[in-house]
Amino acid sequence: MMLQEIKKKAIAEYFWMNRPWVILTGAGISTESGIPDFRSPHTGLWKQYDPMEILSTDVLFNKPELFYQIGFSILMKFKHAQPNQAHCILASWESRGLVKAIITQNIDSLHIDAGSKKVLEIHGHLRTAHCMKCLRTVSIEKLESLVNGGQIPPHCSCGGIIRPDVVLFGDMLPSSFEEAIKMVQNSPLLVIGSSLQVSPANLIPSLAKKLIIVNLDETPFDNRAAFVLHGKAGMLLNFLDEEVKKIAERV
Ligand code: NAD
Repeated sequence: MMLQEIKKKAIAEYFWMNRPWVILTGAGISTESGIPDFRSPHTGLWKQYDPMEILSTDVLFNKPELFYQIGFSILMKFKHAQPNQAHCILASWESRGLVKAIITQNIDSLHIDAGSKKVLEIHGHLRTAHCMKCLRTVSIEKLESLVNGGQIPPHCSCGGIIRPDVVLFGDMLPSSFEEAIKMVQNSPLLVIGSSLQVSPANLIPSLAKKLIIVNLDETPFDNRAAFVLHGKAGMLLNFLDEEVKKIAERV
C-alpha cells in the first residue's frame, strides 16, 4: 500500500471519530462545475480584471458601468452551473450525520442545489438583489434584464439603485458570519477548495481546534492542520467517502 493510501485511511478514521464536522468551502470546490476561482492561474476570465477591484463597493458606487457590464456579467455567466461530485458528497454526509453545517464563501448556490440544508453563505448569493434605498428584494433575473436592457446603474421604481445580494470587497459581512464563528469554536473543521487568503473568512480556520484541509495548492494554514490533502476535491472526497462507508459498516 502506498504511503498516500495509508494517510487517506488515517484521515477517514480521524474524520469518523470526530464527527459531525463543520465544512468551510471556497471557490475551489466549484471549479469542477466549470466556475473559475480567483487565484488559480490561467482561468482566463479574471486574467484581464482584478476581481478584488471590480467586485468592490468602490467600483459599484463610483464606476457602475465597470461593475455591471464586466463584474456582474462575469458572475452571471455561471448561473447554469450544476453541483459536482464534491457538493453531492457533502449533502449526503449531512443526511448521514457526518456534517453539521457548511460555511461557504461561494455565491453560486451549488451546495443548496446539491441538497445541503444547513448552509451559511457568508459572502451572500446570486439568487436575489435589492434596492439600496427602499430595500425591496427583486429576483436576480429582474436585475439581469435591467442591466441587459442598458439601464446602468439599474433603478428600482423608488429611484434607488439595485444591487445583487452578494458581499463585495468593502462590504460588511452578513450575520451568518457571526454564526459561523460561533459554530467553528465548538466543532472540528474541514476546509475544501479555499486559498484561505481572503480576510476575514480566513479567521474561521484559525479558531478551529481540529482541522483538515483539502485543496489543490498549499494554504497558509497547512501547518496547523491535523491532515492536509492536496488534489482535486471531487476525487479526494470520493475516496474519503468510500473509506468512511467501510468504517460505518464495521461498527
Ligand atoms: P480562491 O480563488 O482564493 O482559492 C481557490 C483555491 O481552490 C485555490 O487555492 C486552488 O488551489 C483551489 N482549487 C482549485 N480547484 C480545486 C479543486 N478542483 N479541488 C480542490 N481545490 C481546488 O478562493 P476562495 O478562497 O474561495 O476566495 C475567493 C473569493 O472569491 C471568495 O470570497 C469567494 O466567495 C469568491 N468566489 C466565489 C466563486 C463561486 O461562488 N464559485 C468563484 C470565484 C470566487
